[in-house]
Amino acid sequence: MAEDMRVGTGFDIHRLVEGQPLVLGGVTIPFEKGLEGHSDGDALTHAIVDALLGAACLGDIGVHFPPSDEKHKGASSIDFLKHVMDLLDGKMFFVQNVDATIICEAPKLSPHYEAMRQNLSKAMRISMEQVSIKSKTMERIGPIGEGLAIACQAVALVESQM
Ligand code: MG
Repeated sequence: MAEDMRVGTGFDIHRLVEGQPLVLGGVTIPFEKGLEGHSDGDALTHAIVDALLGAACLGDIGVHFPPSDEKHKGASSIDFLKHVMDLLDGKMFFVQNVDATIICEAPKLSPHYEAMRQNLSKAMRISMEQVSIKSKTMERIGPIGEGLAIACQAVALVESQM
């Protein structure tokens, strides 16, 4: 059986607003603001979901979890990720690795990398060594640099065994 390796990319951005918890990679991070969103606003998990869907050519997060659907209100994005893994499993796609970058001025995220990798790898049923999380600031430039939003990008490599 020939190996069929496929790559997918994902991107997401959410506004930072008051009165919302900040959730990234399923980790609630102490901060005075959080990410606005219909679900829990977890832009990191959303970018990873889109990277996986992209690698498997299965559309995007909006197709599978439409914001117009009331049942996704306040939903845990980790549950979206688990659902997408079921879709990939059904099509015999196996995740090789995921690498993601969070673009965020504040707070400092490195103390939370390990917990994020733990949550994400558990949801994807892979090892922590297959999940890399990094972050960058925007050097105070633009809306992200001014703390108005957090963006995330992700890449996923999957192997098709069909
Ligand atoms: Mg999103």
